[in-house]
Amino acid sequence: MDIVIYSLMFFALTCIGSFIGVCFERIPEGESIIKGRSHCESCGKTLKGYELVPIISYLFLRGRCSKCKKKIPLRCLGIEFFTAVFGIIPLIMYGVSVQGFAYCAISCILFEIALLDFKTMEISDFASLLIGLIGIAMMIYQGSYLSSLIGAVCVSIPFLVFALCGVMGYGDVKLMAAVGVLLGIKGVLFAAFAGIVIGCFAAIILKFKKTHDWKSEIAFGPYLCIGSYLSMLIGPTCVDLYLSILK
Ligand SMILES: [Zn+2]
Repeated sequence: MDIVIYSLMFFALTCIGSFIGVCFERIPEGESIIKGRSHCESCGKTLKGYELVPIISYLFLRGRCSKCKKKIPLRCLGIEFFTAVFGIIPLIMYGVSVQGFAYCAISCILFEIALLDFKTMEISDFASLLIGLIGIAMMIYQGSYLSSLIGAVCVSIPFLVFALCGVMGYGDVKLMAAVGVLLGIKGVLFAAFAGIVIGCFAAIILKFKKTHDWKSEIAFGPYLCIGSYLSMLIGPTCVDLYLSILK
């Protein structure tokens, strides 16, 4: 029975991915994400129902607009596909449960934050707020009040100091406060640690590839999102393992 739910959820996630794709294209341009039908970027043709089915339409149309035959960017397909893959993994790991569905939703939000921060260097307060609200609901559900309260401040306060010094954005601070409520103290520490390590590696690679010079800013949010995502899946287990080695 679970396989049916996973299949339905995978399809639902591709639809969410399609919406994330719309956010990715429209938000940086200052366009509304709810008004205006989906259309071909090239000829402006309004897409019909059968052209809007995530992944399947792209394959059916062979990646081209049905009117002007202009190529549909591959990233549209990529965003739909990876939203579904990233979302379904926590659901399978935690099973058809409150935690499974909550983490599935968080995956989508993190993916959206990562994509938009990469493009615009900004993390929307609304997205962080959503994570915080799901975090509060999970905290009440699990009764993990103390861990969530400490989690909310133990990373975000040091980050706030960095932000005041101008080396980090306030969006990162708010994101980590929200992730702290959601994942608790162990989870948020792992998320920040993993995010910083991956971010440093990425920064070094970007510098050497000369796409960024040493002075240019790098969006840190995407790496914090990757860290938070990994933390949802393996964070507490890794922290416990580490602590048991120390003993
Ligand atoms: Zn077209």
